[in-house]
Amino acid sequence: MRLSIIGAGYVGLTTGACLAELGHHVICIDMNEERVARLRDGEVPIYEPDLHDLMTSNIGAGRLFFSADTATSVADADAVFIAVGTPSLVDGDIDLSFVQEAARGIAKVIKPNCVVVVKSTVVVGTCKALREIIAEERGALDFSIASNPEFLREGTAVSDFLEPERVVFGSDDPRACAVLEQIYKPLADRGVTVMRTSNANAELIKYSANAFLALKIGFINDVANLCEQVGGDVSAVAAGIGLDSRIGSAFLSAGPGFGGSCFPKDTRAFAATGRKHDAPQGLIETLIEGNEARSQMLAERVLAELGSDADGATIAVLGLAFKANTDDTRESPSLALIPWLQKAGCRIKAHDPKAMMEAAKQLDDISFCEDAYDAAKDSDGVIVLTEWDEYRRLDLARLAGTMRGSLLADYRNLWLPSDMTDLDLTYLSIGRPTIH
Ligand code: NAD
Repeated sequence: MRLSIIGAGYVGLTTGACLAELGHHVICIDMNEERVARLRDGEVPIYEPDLHDLMTSNIGAGRLFFSADTATSVADADAVFIAVGTPSLVDGDIDLSFVQEAARGIAKVIKPNCVVVVKSTVVVGTCKALREIIAEERGALDFSIASNPEFLREGTAVSDFLEPERVVFGSDDPRACAVLEQIYKPLADRGVTVMRTSNANAELIKYSANAFLALKIGFINDVANLCEQVGGDVSAVAAGIGLDSRIGSAFLSAGPGFGGSCFPKDTRAFAATGRKHDAPQGLIETLIEGNEARSQMLAERVLAELGSDADGATIAVLGLAFKANTDDTRESPSLALIPWLQKAGCRIKAHDPKAMMEAAKQLDDISFCEDAYDAAKDSDGVIVLTEWDEYRRLDLARLAGTMRGSLLADYRNLWLPSDMTDLDLTYLSIGRPTIH
């Protein structure tokens, strides 16, 4: 099939490279000309494991192309995927302007019978609204619209796309469903469950899935708060409850709260949709509140340990990406926590293996460091906020030896309290009592 993808970001690029890998002819289009030029030079503008190799082999096989020109790049497409951003508006609802703009951009140039596939995460009803936008621009053109939400995770995007637990698509038009079935046939042939449903259901499935996963994180973080107060260990509690197959063990790692480009904005949009349609999502409203308060709470734990020395203290922050194996810093807990420390007079040194360039655009007054030891040097405290493997492997005695102070806040539970024996550190972690 001939496919075009509008938006060559984390989702669009991965989708494009993976659909080419499944044998389709794919053009990825982005309005950012510099990004397209880099892609054409064989460069991947984001950090995503395995994506570079997949792109290179599919470019070489003549199946994957890049363009900054929508008009010429969608004219022959059997299906056009919209994979542009859907950020939050100030009221929590989503900003659909990029999706609407993309729909307007393709309306005049798609061929008859083209299927417009919305891959961006959008609130229920969006496909219906986009259908009207395209019809308005193009009049009598016969085209179909479908929703095909994406469930990939940054850091494992390629394998998530090529070996998913399910593919979901929805359309009220059987012709669109037939085209999507054809597109995903190579995955169905490998045994992947491909769920076909209505447009509205597909849109609702994406938000409900993310809201539920975020609830698991919020819940275990609340349990962690209780463990800290009563001498429990959240890892043991999570392991114990996770053995019940109705609960499951995934997504029960307590930590600094959820961040990234999806959970915060998708939970806000889900809650806003509930308010708009008189179906309040009280659980999600409470979850959002708790998650937003978490960065301040964790900063205050560190400040309380530092006491009157907080003003003027040097703190090393290890990890700026919202999670490991990505350079994405959107709504990263790290970026939310740092300003609370700065407000209390702390000086921040920071390190991240991949995300320092992105973080530098959003933070002021930070010294970026070459590695974790460099960041920890002469610091009064070290806070770990991203679970990079290179931090797990740190020589803690060397790290402690280079510090001026003795505070280690391990907000990803990379180590066990027993690892602190003989280190003379004050060890704060999540959901476990502090060790002095
Ligand atoms: P992104 O910001 O990385 O990429 C969006 C790209 O679209 C940008 O490169 C931008 O230049 C381009 N763009 C915007 N308008 C355009 C237009 N009219 N024509 C051409 N290009 C245009 O965003 P992302 O992280 O890939 O997310 C895209 C969508 O997928 C969002 O709705 C998001 O919620 C959803 N999603 C993201 C993830 C994830 O992990 N990032 C996972 C699942 C779903």
